[in-house]
Amino acid sequence: MKTGNINVQTENIFPIIKKFLYSDHEIFLRELVSNAVDASQKLKFFASNGEFTGEMGDLQVEVILDEAAKTLTIKDNGIGMTAEEIDKYINQIAFSGAEEFVQKYEGKEGAENIIGHFGLGFYSAFMVADKVQIKTLARYEGAQAVQWESNGDPSYTITEIDKADRGTEIVLHISEESKEFLEKNRIQGILDKYCKFLPIPVIFGTETKYKDDPSGEKDENDKVKQVSYEVPNQVNNPVPAWTKKPADLTDEDYGTFYRELYPMSFDQPLFHIHLNVDYPFNLTGILYFPKIKENVEVQRNKINLYSNQVFITDSVEEIVPEFLTLLHGVIDSPDIPLNVSRSYLQSDGNVKKISTHITKKVADKLREMFNKDREDFESKYEDLRIFIEYGTLSDEKFADKAKAFSMVKSTDDKYYTIEEFKEKVKDLQTDKDGKTVFLYTNNKDEQYSFVQAAKDRGYEVLELDGPLVSHWVSNIESKFENVSFARVDADTLDKLIAKGDEMPSKLSKEDEEALKPVFEGVVDKDKFKVQFESMSETDAPVVLTQPEFIRRMMEQQKYGGAGFMG
Ligand code: ADP
Ligand code: MG
Repeated sequence: MKTGNINVQTENIFPIIKKFLYSDHEIFLRELVSNAVDASQKLKFFASNGEFTGEMGDLQVEVILDEAAKTLTIKDNGIGMTAEEIDKYINQIAFSGAEEFVQKYEGKEGAENIIGHFGLGFYSAFMVADKVQIKTLARYEGAQAVQWESNGDPSYTITEIDKADRGTEIVLHISEESKEFLEKNRIQGILDKYCKFLPIPVIFGTETKYKDDPSGEKDENDKVKQVSYEVPNQVNNPVPAWTKKPADLTDEDYGTFYRELYPMSFDQPLFHIHLNVDYPFNLTGILYFPKIKENVEVQRNKINLYSNQVFITDSVEEIVPEFLTLLHGVIDSPDIPLNVSRSYLQSDGNVKKISTHITKKVADKLREMFNKDREDFESKYEDLRIFIEYGTLSDEKFADKAKAFSMVKSTDDKYYTIEEFKEKVKDLQTDKDGKTVFLYTNNKDEQYSFVQAAKDRGYEVLELDGPLVSHWVSNIESKFENVSFARVDADTLDKLIAKGDEMPSKLSKEDEEALKPVFEGVVDKDKFKVQFESMSETDAPVVLTQPEFIRRMMEQQKYGGAGFMG
């Protein structure tokens, strides 16, 4: 037997690690399972480069709960450790074996699939256990199995043990205050959350299945009786869709993966984008475009962030621009620093590049869809519109690209790009200043007589509504030369009409003078204009119009900054 002290170089940080390493104690399981996965991946790597020539067997990680003994064990058949390796990798806190491995084998295929980075993960075990044992047999021929044991005080012991099978078992003696981690459902829940797509099979207990009774005996309903049998309960899908090549996946596969990600969701996404970058940073993933709901907040922040298939978080606000948080799916990048503060993330160079890349991909995909199948794109446009408007308003680069596929819909349900519509209406609808006026309504019923009057004059009227419209039209005006928007009930309409073309008032001067104060008494004089000249025969004798800029200002105040504009 050898005894010694865990080597903490600067000060005794052990109690701090125990309590505060991660604010979420459940993380210990993610750390230990991902160490076990690393140990398996390393074995695969050594087998592929000839450093390991033994029998590899089926690599898997097993999580074993023993309620009676109050232990939780994480078992793998990976590389294992010798006593010397334990000394090096375990007894020296913050000396990361994973980091060392990746550096040593950098550039070799397979070496980058290692999860660990910080050399602290193992010690998170002490957040939930008051005693931890490592029983391990290294991969070398004739290796001696050893057991390391510590109750985190911080002394440890190492003893030689008998252990026939290669690999490591981490035995956690769960402390009284952490006994929630002795509940099967709790553990299953944590595994579902963090381990669902780990690259090595993770087994937790068994799962009951049913099959026909082999004797063929029938029940009272004349159906063959069912007998139950147990199979290993595999927690994860080791080869999730995002790790495959897009060419190897069908639309159905993408649909199936969406349901794997969101088993509770009944919606089908509109389309997807498969991300795959390896230079200058690593990024894979699949983003789905949901049908945007009325209440956007319910579908926000559904993107799951992974690092080498380990779940990290589902709050990606700091990693992607706000308008992209409406998307669903998975981003996997080992290049996103994980255990750092959120505010640091925003300033990180890699994170910025990743964010820019995703924005570009999304815009490119939309343009590709627009170019490839215009009809299909138009059929989806109502669902895409808020997203495109939002992106246009919040991201300059996206806005630039969106110029090509941003569309407006006419009141007779036809879609036009901005340029197309300008071309279509410019003869009749260009004002004295040379601006082509895009007339629109945001409520066909309420503004019915205005729409009618405009149409009677041969004008085209667009249908635009939603919380972002007034911001969006201002933005489009700034991006397209000589384009201006006006709601049909704005006073702009008369500016389009050549002098002398107005219809005369239908009222006498006396009636006008009597009525004017009556109307002005009930509406805000500064915001509305009482008008007796009409534009067509069918117009009402009195019309209230509102200067476009006043209405827009009011609307923008109402919606400005309300979460949408950040
Ligand atoms: P990191 O994973 O960041 O390197 P950890 O504290 O999680 O840090 O683990 C420290 C080191 O201990 C690992 O790098 C590895 O060398 C070793 N180790 C931990 N768990 C295992 C295991 N199950 N099998 C083999 N080695 C392990
Ligand atoms: Mg680790």
